[in-house]
Amino acid sequence: MPTDPVPALLARATEVLAAQFSHLPDFQAETAGADDAARMAEVLKDVAERLGDNYPYFHPLYAGQMLKPPHPVARAAYALAMAINPNNHALDGGRASSAMEMEAVAEIARVFGWVESYLGHLTSSGTIANLEALWVAGQVTPGKRIVGSEQAHYTHARISGVLRLGYTPIATDDRGRMDMNALESELRNGDIGTVVATLGTTAIGAVDPLDEIVALQSRYGFRIHVDAAYGGYFKLIESHLDGAARRAFEAISKADSIVVDPHKHGLQPYGCGCVLFRDPAVGRFYQHDSPYTYFSSKELHLGEISLECSRAGAAAVALWATQRMLPMVPGGEFARGLQCGRNAALALDSRLRGEAEFCPMIEGRPELDIVVWMVAGRDAAESSDRAHAIFANAALRDLHLALVQLPRKWFESDGRTGAGQDSMVTCLRSVLMKPEHEGWIGAIWEKLMASCASLKGA
Ligand SMILES: *Cc1c(COP(=O)(O)O)cnc(C)c1O
Repeated sequence: MPTDPVPALLARATEVLAAQFSHLPDFQAETAGADDAARMAEVLKDVAERLGDNYPYFHPLYAGQMLKPPHPVARAAYALAMAINPNNHALDGGRASSAMEMEAVAEIARVFGWVESYLGHLTSSGTIANLEALWVAGQVTPGKRIVGSEQAHYTHARISGVLRLGYTPIATDDRGRMDMNALESELRNGDIGTVVATLGTTAIGAVDPLDEIVALQSRYGFRIHVDAAYGGYFKLIESHLDGAARRAFEAISKADSIVVDPHKHGLQPYGCGCVLFRDPAVGRFYQHDSPYTYFSSKELHLGEISLECSRAGAAAVALWATQRMLPMVPGGEFARGLQCGRNAALALDSRLRGEAEFCPMIEGRPELDIVVWMVAGRDAAESSDRAHAIFANAALRDLHLALVQLPRKWFESDGRTGAGQDSMVTCLRSVLMKPEHEGWIGAIWEKLMASCASLKGA
């Protein structure tokens, strides 16, 4: 593991924090005895040993699922906040951290072009953020259906079930983007309340044509919810994306609600999603009269505009610190990190295109920083088996990829295979979300090819 700056940073900051409470009478914590210290050290040794049973998510050779190490300043700020353990439900429980949450959320809203009027807050995940957005959607358009693409996150169908709202999946094109003809024929039924547009699908990073969805809105009258849990931060490098994806991101401020996950691309520890509404008046749906929440001030507290009650104030503190360190601006260091991952994806994709063993997507290069490719084979079963074998063999070489089931027709044109075009096939997948990935594509490629060669020899 790389040298960790967090312990030293934390020691210094802990002194600054402690000084602010030094006027209080001294007391001995029940957990601070010498015996406690020895037992805690023992337990922590066990914890460290148990944690070794993990893939090395922090390392550039981990190029599988959506896992990105939090920034050291986020880890340090989170750990520092643990000395207080604030709760951002209400100002009583988390004064400073609630203020920091509002500032951090304002910065995210500004990225999407919402400055003066919006409503937003952090959540414990993208799923809960989407739940809130669809809950509000159901309040605004009661009894109407929700639609999202077949590649939308699986939780949208589940959330709609929880909310007792109808949910219909819409077909995609061969790049995994919502098909506009299929959407429009669904809209003609007249009972669609909300269209979920995914900007960066979880499987392949496909970007739904939000600009075209917006163009249909005046004709059919529906809400637009943008699920940008994964891809939201790519707004910062939209001018470097290919045409269709760029146009989608340019339209994002027209959405009615947006979800983005700071714990995915925003360098945060888990427990940090974010939901934003363009119309702050939706706050009226949240009204509650909790006898437990003590209103120590007339100011808005976040529990009044959130479905969840207790939330980690530390998550807001970590996000605030990270944004202070790395401002969310085009051309800044944070944006450059996203660009590095995208460059890595393009480099891997172009290597795949030169290799007969592999079939990359026929319709074009990755839209964000996720690469998927099929392994050549006589049929879907053989391709899938070979993908599984390469996946397992690469892991033995410390290269960690992921597997994903996708329609076979995305990878092979009719001319090449003929039969079986409708079947699903297990493909290899690599999410290149760490800036370091750009410099490691050569090493990743060598290990991938070594796996292929060793399996052929077998
Ligand atoms: C990850 C993801 C979600 C779910 O977010 P969690 O934070 O994992 O709950 C929803 N939508 C998309 C597009 C995602 O990538």
